[in-house]
Amino acid sequence: MHSTFKLNPGQLKAVEHGEGPLLIIAGPGSGKTRVITQRIVHLLTGAGGAAEEPALLPGMAIPVRRGEESSGAGIQAENILALTFTEKAAREMQRRVREALPEIEALPQISTFHAFCYEVLRKRHFERALLDKVDVWILLRQRMESLKLQFYQKLAEPGAFLHSLNDFFSRCQDELIEPADFERYAEALEKEFQEIAPSLDAAGRALMHEEIQKKQELARVFRNSRKLIEEAGASSLGSLIPETVRLFDREPVVLESYRRLFRHVLVDEFQDTNYAQVELLKRLVQPPYNITAVGDDDQAIYRFRGASHGAFKMFDEAFPGHKTVFLDTNFRSTQRILRVADVLIAKNDRYEAKPELRTSREEGAPVYLLESPDFRSEAAWIADEVARLTHHGTPPGDIAVLYRAHGYRDPLVEQFRRRKIPFAIRGLSILSTVIMRDLVAYLNIIHSARDNVSMTRVLLTPRWNFPEDLALEARKQALRDRCSIYDALGSWQMSVAATRLEGTGWTELHRLLGDLRKYAEHAPVTAVLQRLLGRLELSFLPQDPDGGYVGTFRKFLEEWLGKSESWTLDAFLEYFEYFREAGGQIEAPEPDSSTDAVQMMSVHAAKGLEFPVVFILSVAPRRFPHSEQKPVIEFPGALRKGPPPPANIHEQEERRLLYVGLTRAEDRLYVSSVAKPGKKPSVFINDLTSNAPVEARDIERIQVREVPPEPVEAPREQPVARERIAAPKPQSSLFGDATGASGIYPPIAEWASRPAVIKPEEKLQLSASAIETYDTCPQKFMFSHYLKIPTGPQPALTFGNIMHQCARRYFELRRQRPVKFEQLQAHFEQIWKGAGFEDDYQEQAYKKAGLEQLRVFVDRHKDVTTLPLSAEAHFALDLGDVVLEGRIDQINPITDHSVELVDYKTGRAPTQKDADKSLQLSVYALAARDQMHLNPARLTFYSLTNNEPVRTVRTPKDLDLVISEIHEVAAQIRQQLFPPKPGFACKYCDYVLICPAHEEIF
Ligand code: SF4
Repeated sequence: MHSTFKLNPGQLKAVEHGEGPLLIIAGPGSGKTRVITQRIVHLLTGAGGAAEEPALLPGMAIPVRRGEESSGAGIQAENILALTFTEKAAREMQRRVREALPEIEALPQISTFHAFCYEVLRKRHFERALLDKVDVWILLRQRMESLKLQFYQKLAEPGAFLHSLNDFFSRCQDELIEPADFERYAEALEKEFQEIAPSLDAAGRALMHEEIQKKQELARVFRNSRKLIEEAGASSLGSLIPETVRLFDREPVVLESYRRLFRHVLVDEFQDTNYAQVELLKRLVQPPYNITAVGDDDQAIYRFRGASHGAFKMFDEAFPGHKTVFLDTNFRSTQRILRVADVLIAKNDRYEAKPELRTSREEGAPVYLLESPDFRSEAAWIADEVARLTHHGTPPGDIAVLYRAHGYRDPLVEQFRRRKIPFAIRGLSILSTVIMRDLVAYLNIIHSARDNVSMTRVLLTPRWNFPEDLALEARKQALRDRCSIYDALGSWQMSVAATRLEGTGWTELHRLLGDLRKYAEHAPVTAVLQRLLGRLELSFLPQDPDGGYVGTFRKFLEEWLGKSESWTLDAFLEYFEYFREAGGQIEAPEPDSSTDAVQMMSVHAAKGLEFPVVFILSVAPRRFPHSEQKPVIEFPGALRKGPPPPANIHEQEERRLLYVGLTRAEDRLYVSSVAKPGKKPSVFINDLTSNAPVEARDIERIQVREVPPEPVEAPREQPVARERIAAPKPQSSLFGDATGASGIYPPIAEWASRPAVIKPEEKLQLSASAIETYDTCPQKFMFSHYLKIPTGPQPALTFGNIMHQCARRYFELRRQRPVKFEQLQAHFEQIWKGAGFEDDYQEQAYKKAGLEQLRVFVDRHKDVTTLPLSAEAHFALDLGDVVLEGRIDQINPITDHSVELVDYKTGRAPTQKDADKSLQLSVYALAARDQMHLNPARLTFYSLTNNEPVRTVRTPKDLDLVISEIHEVAAQIRQQLFPPKPGFACKYCDYVLICPAHEEIF
């Protein structure tokens, strides 16, 4: 036997188990992967029973072991199937088996569930491309028309529901629910509704009817999307397992062949299996049920990827009478770390009473519980502690910082950067790196010179020597002339203004873009990238991470070429826009494990790893546990086939995630709690400290001092950004141009935080929407208001504008005679012509909705007798240091001086709360009162979407408050406070490519 003599009794029992089902419950650090690989080795080398000759299907090749002597009493490699969930885990298992049995010629089949199923299907002539989640999104987005969405669509964002729909369909597939099953379910609901409808009141009936219509839409879209994917010659990853189960059910001969082939099936990370996977296993394994499942229910953290909870319960039902082995000896952590982790996980419902984890290691250092008042102070303390540890000899690579979500690491990255502590981030998307954002900006303007945001970024790079005041002039001109920055500069070049461009690199940039545009007409996108790199004279030394990012992007392009019918830059950028809209990320290569840098990663990414020192960052309310995001489309409980989930499943899964984080630590563990003084900490901090003896013995609390905010952020200069991995870092990029100035690395952060020119005596000109933009994100306000960066037309605004014009036209016509819908339709059609939507589907959807809304609008207003006093009434109200500007959509008379002010809305219909809180309506009221000397007795949002008004009022006190709020914003603007406020708004922001908050600066 190979190396099994080193196994402890529990491990040995698991490895040497004979025939029949076996469940191995393996606590963290208990050698799970070692046990499963040793079991494979054990089966191969002797005690697994003699192999029968398997019955094979045509095309199934049996790997042959070198030398008959090694087949001995062991079973053949081809009779073993080992399944896991990630390619990485499969490779690791293969490596270990190969290491244990170097003489073996062919390994058993060790693969992911998906890879195994794909192979089974391919052998049955299944020749389809595989689509991941993002690919499916893009495919459906390109075929939206065929989906016939009604409830699950947003006009302003046609693809908004596609992920939710796909998640729902995947969830169905995880439960082996097919479109036909779901249709039957929807039909049954409809029948039930018809029976009880007479007993319901009107509102209840309408509500229930809408719910049923939604289910019917889901059923229709489920079938349609499946059809669209198949017509494209593809299959979604999620459909592989159900398809294989169906194949096995449909063709018993095929199933029998696999059953006879695989005499032993082993499954790693069994806690992550779902109903469909368990069903697949049930089919594959026949008496005497030689299945070995290894896992730990305490480490089930992938429900979001489709893992079921209660996988072990399903195992019990599928393979009754199985043997269970507990691996409860932890070889990793100190006793104190394990005791604290155990207190936490004991709060969860667990598979069954497990023995407590034991370790032969020493007591060790206490678990440090940091208590910080805010995230800035937390980051500063941790960075100091890391500096102290490394100063005393801990290699940076022995330290890991784990967080619940990537965004939480930013303050710590900033602190590491200042202290020049080397760090490496796992799970980083190359799309947020400076080099890739630069190259994408170039590709964008090669494709379309009208992309002003990309042009702004490119002009900022040192190579083009383009002073900011000149760039600002060009942007202002572009805004004035309603053209692109590129065209504005082009017009300077052709006129007397050409002198302005002297000394800049515009002529060279212009030539470069022209040449590459021409080249891109016939060259593949990979060649365009290569030529761009050449023209920018950009190359990388082997250790430069930027070289790795560019290489990864090149691979991404090559993969796209492989699945695309076209290979041009235009086609790629169309795809890439969808890719990003779908939330696609391109993961950066994993940092070299030999890199001596602090390892930063999400807790999910840390699963399976271990480090001498671990910091768990920001265990704070709403961060850890993370706020629950319920699926937009709930899976009906009636269709669930697996065990029902516990009520608090989200909190339990988050607790398991923290447990996984805690148990990565070998010697020192820091849990960092953040809560403002007097506020409750995360519920998990209460859990961790809930056992008084353990707390007293094993936890040391550390109060973290508050670090005052810094008055002005130090300019983030690019040279610092280049010192990420090790300091001092050798020069890694070679820029060969004559001036030595680079065509990449614009000083974005410094530029974006540069003070705006605001003269103290100058009155600020603000509108309600500008103030709202400032409130949403001051940096965005800076980009649009002071840096004057022109952006493209937004479909929602274009549509809103057309609808506003139509509403105004209606009342103009009404002054003469009653208005027919056809008259308004003619006006609508005429202005629509010049609207310039870029997305056909969206244009048609908007057009259809717009006409329908106008039809109802005409009908609703046919009996209105009072006509507006004015439409689009402009105002400029002097509030001292601010001039408040805007236009009131419509002013309706009520009595002599009392008026109703109407703001027309398109898009989501506003609620009463929206109207009560609306700054826009408050500003209208102020202008009417103080400039037009009217009494704004009624303020109305009129939604053109549902043709319903929502009315509100403002008291004089409300308006005084609004005035002070406006002055407050003005004061912040005068103080030059324009920090980025990343969040939900970024999704709809045109400035992402030049926003420092979206740039990984190290
Ligand atoms: S991308 Fe986000 S953080 Fe940046 S300017 Fe836009 S809204 Fe602000």
